[in-house]
Amino acid sequence: MRVFGWIKVITNQELDKLNQGLPPDVIDANFSLKYFTDYLARTGRPVKIAITDQNKMGGVGNIYANDALWQAKIHPRRPAKSLNLSEINQLHRALKLVLKLGIKYGGATASDDKFVHTTGLGGKYQEHFLVYEQDGKPCHRCQTIIKKIRLAGRGTYYCPHCQPLS
Ligand SMILES: [Zn+2]
Repeated sequence: MRVFGWIKVITNQELDKLNQGLPPDVIDANFSLKYFTDYLARTGRPVKIAITDQNKMGGVGNIYANDALWQAKIHPRRPAKSLNLSEINQLHRALKLVLKLGIKYGGATASDDKFVHTTGLGGKYQEHFLVYEQDGKPCHRCQTIIKKIRLAGRGTYYCPHCQPLS
Protein backbone atom coordinates (compact mmCIF):
# COMPACT_ATOMS: atom_id res chain seq x y z
CA MET A 1 0.00 0.00 0.00
CA ARG A 2 1.24 3.48 -0.87
CA VAL A 3 2.10 5.99 1.83
CA PHE A 4 1.20 9.58 0.97
CA GLY A 5 2.24 12.99 2.18
CA TRP A 6 5.25 14.78 3.61
CA ILE A 7 6.02 17.57 6.04
CA LYS A 8 8.56 20.33 5.31
CA VAL A 9 9.39 23.62 7.01
CA ILE A 10 9.38 26.39 4.36
CA THR A 11 9.05 30.17 4.18
CA ASN A 12 5.84 31.94 3.06
CA GLN A 13 7.62 32.83 -0.17
CA GLU A 14 8.47 29.20 -0.83
CA LEU A 15 4.87 28.26 -0.03
CA ASP A 16 3.54 30.77 -2.59
CA LYS A 17 5.90 29.37 -5.20
CA LEU A 18 4.81 25.81 -4.40
CA ASN A 19 1.12 26.71 -4.66
CA GLN A 20 1.63 28.47 -8.01
CA GLY A 21 2.86 25.22 -9.54
CA LEU A 22 -0.27 23.29 -8.54
CA PRO A 23 -3.31 22.70 -10.80
CA PRO A 24 -6.83 23.50 -9.53
CA ASP A 25 -8.12 21.19 -6.85
CA VAL A 26 -11.37 19.43 -7.78
CA ILE A 27 -13.27 20.78 -4.77
CA ASP A 28 -12.19 24.38 -5.47
CA ALA A 29 -14.37 26.82 -7.43
CA ASN A 30 -11.56 27.31 -9.96
CA PHE A 31 -11.94 23.70 -11.09
CA SER A 32 -14.58 24.89 -13.54
CA LEU A 33 -16.57 22.93 -16.09
CA LYS A 34 -14.71 24.88 -18.79
CA TYR A 35 -11.29 23.96 -17.39
CA PHE A 36 -12.30 20.29 -17.16
CA THR A 37 -13.84 20.25 -20.67
CA ASP A 38 -10.76 21.87 -22.23
CA TYR A 39 -8.44 19.45 -20.44
CA LEU A 40 -10.34 16.29 -21.41
CA ALA A 41 -10.63 17.41 -25.05
CA ARG A 42 -6.83 17.51 -25.29
CA THR A 43 -6.11 13.96 -24.12
CA GLY A 44 -6.85 10.59 -25.69
CA ARG A 45 -5.78 8.75 -22.53
CA PRO A 46 -8.35 6.57 -20.73
CA VAL A 47 -10.56 8.91 -18.70
CA LYS A 48 -9.63 7.23 -15.41
CA ILE A 49 -5.94 7.93 -16.03
CA ALA A 50 -6.72 11.53 -17.05
CA ILE A 51 -8.72 12.35 -13.91
CA THR A 52 -6.01 11.01 -11.57
CA ASP A 53 -3.22 13.09 -13.19
CA GLN A 54 -2.19 15.33 -10.28
CA ASN A 55 -0.37 17.69 -12.67
CA LYS A 56 -3.69 18.62 -14.33
CA MET A 57 -6.24 18.41 -11.51
CA GLY A 58 -5.67 17.86 -7.82
CA GLY A 59 -7.25 15.52 -5.33
CA VAL A 60 -8.55 12.48 -7.21
CA GLY A 61 -6.93 9.22 -6.14
CA ASN A 62 -7.80 5.71 -7.23
CA ILE A 63 -10.78 5.16 -4.91
CA TYR A 64 -12.52 8.44 -5.82
CA ALA A 65 -11.80 8.02 -9.55
CA ASN A 66 -13.54 4.64 -9.52
CA ASP A 67 -16.53 5.91 -7.55
CA ALA A 68 -16.95 9.12 -9.61
CA LEU A 69 -16.88 7.22 -12.92
CA TRP A 70 -19.54 4.82 -11.59
CA GLN A 71 -21.62 7.75 -10.37
CA ALA A 72 -21.35 9.41 -13.80
CA LYS A 73 -21.97 6.08 -15.64
CA ILE A 74 -18.72 6.30 -17.65
CA HIS A 75 -16.43 3.34 -18.42
CA PRO A 76 -12.91 3.90 -16.99
CA ARG A 77 -11.26 2.95 -20.30
CA ARG A 78 -13.17 5.49 -22.43
CA PRO A 79 -10.73 7.87 -24.17
CA ALA A 80 -11.06 11.20 -22.33
CA LYS A 81 -11.69 13.16 -25.51
CA SER A 82 -14.56 10.83 -26.51
CA LEU A 83 -16.79 12.11 -23.68
CA ASN A 84 -19.69 14.30 -24.79
CA LEU A 85 -20.67 17.50 -22.96
CA SER A 86 -23.41 15.81 -20.97
CA GLU A 87 -20.98 13.12 -19.76
CA ILE A 88 -18.33 15.70 -18.88
CA ASN A 89 -20.92 17.63 -16.89
CA GLN A 90 -21.99 14.45 -15.05
CA LEU A 91 -18.37 13.53 -14.27
CA HIS A 92 -17.54 17.07 -13.11
CA ARG A 93 -20.43 16.90 -10.62
CA ALA A 94 -19.61 13.31 -9.60
CA LEU A 95 -15.97 14.16 -8.82
CA LYS A 96 -16.96 17.06 -6.57
CA LEU A 97 -19.61 14.88 -4.92
CA VAL A 98 -17.40 11.90 -4.10
CA LEU A 99 -14.58 14.11 -2.78
CA LYS A 100 -17.07 15.96 -0.56
CA LEU A 101 -18.31 12.60 0.74
CA GLY A 102 -14.71 11.52 1.30
CA ILE A 103 -14.10 14.65 3.38
CA LYS A 104 -17.40 14.23 5.23
CA TYR A 105 -16.47 10.65 6.22
CA GLY A 106 -12.89 11.58 7.09
CA GLY A 107 -11.22 9.74 4.19
CA ALA A 108 -10.90 6.04 3.53
CA THR A 109 -8.84 3.75 5.72
CA ALA A 110 -7.86 0.58 3.85
CA SER A 111 -7.41 -2.81 5.49
CA ASP A 112 -3.78 -2.01 6.37
CA ASP A 113 -5.03 0.79 8.71
CA LYS A 114 -2.22 3.11 7.50
CA PHE A 115 -4.40 6.17 6.91
CA VAL A 116 -5.32 7.67 10.27
CA HIS A 117 -6.02 11.17 11.55
CA THR A 118 -3.95 13.03 14.11
CA THR A 119 -6.34 11.54 16.67
CA GLY A 120 -5.22 8.05 15.61
CA LEU A 121 -8.69 7.28 14.29
CA GLY A 122 -9.32 6.06 10.75
CA GLY A 123 -11.72 7.39 8.11
CA LYS A 124 -15.16 6.01 7.33
CA TYR A 125 -15.49 6.46 3.56
CA GLN A 126 -14.69 2.75 3.04
CA GLU A 127 -18.12 2.02 4.54
CA HIS A 128 -19.66 4.06 1.70
CA PHE A 129 -17.75 2.82 -1.39
CA LEU A 130 -19.97 3.02 -4.48
CA VAL A 131 -18.03 0.64 -6.73
CA TYR A 132 -14.47 0.51 -5.34
CA GLU A 133 -13.60 -3.04 -4.13
CA GLN A 134 -17.16 -4.16 -4.93
CA ASP A 135 -16.10 -6.76 -7.54
CA GLY A 136 -18.31 -9.85 -7.42
CA LYS A 137 -21.07 -7.88 -5.66
CA PRO A 138 -24.24 -6.49 -7.30
CA CYS A 139 -24.21 -2.90 -8.59
CA HIS A 140 -26.07 -0.57 -6.17
CA ARG A 141 -28.06 0.79 -9.14
CA CYS A 142 -28.87 -2.16 -11.42
CA GLN A 143 -27.75 -5.35 -9.58
CA THR A 144 -25.35 -6.39 -12.38
CA ILE A 145 -22.20 -7.98 -10.92
CA ILE A 146 -19.32 -5.46 -10.63
CA LYS A 147 -16.16 -6.32 -12.56
CA LYS A 148 -12.51 -5.61 -11.73
CA ILE A 149 -9.80 -4.90 -14.29
CA ARG A 150 -6.30 -3.41 -14.07
CA LEU A 151 -5.65 -0.04 -15.63
CA ALA A 152 -2.09 1.35 -15.42
CA GLY A 153 -1.47 -1.17 -12.66
CA ARG A 154 -4.34 0.04 -10.45
CA GLY A 155 -7.44 -1.91 -9.44
CA THR A 156 -10.33 -0.59 -11.52
CA TYR A 157 -13.96 -1.41 -10.77
CA TYR A 158 -17.01 -0.82 -12.94
CA CYS A 159 -20.54 -1.98 -13.70
CA PRO A 160 -20.67 -3.55 -17.20
CA HIS A 161 -24.32 -2.48 -17.53
CA CYS A 162 -24.24 1.11 -16.19
CA GLN A 163 -20.80 1.92 -17.65
CA PRO A 164 -20.70 0.55 -21.23
CA LEU A 165 -17.44 0.95 -23.16
CA SER A 166 -19.05 2.23 -26.37
ZN1 LIG B 1 -25.06 -1.01 -12.69
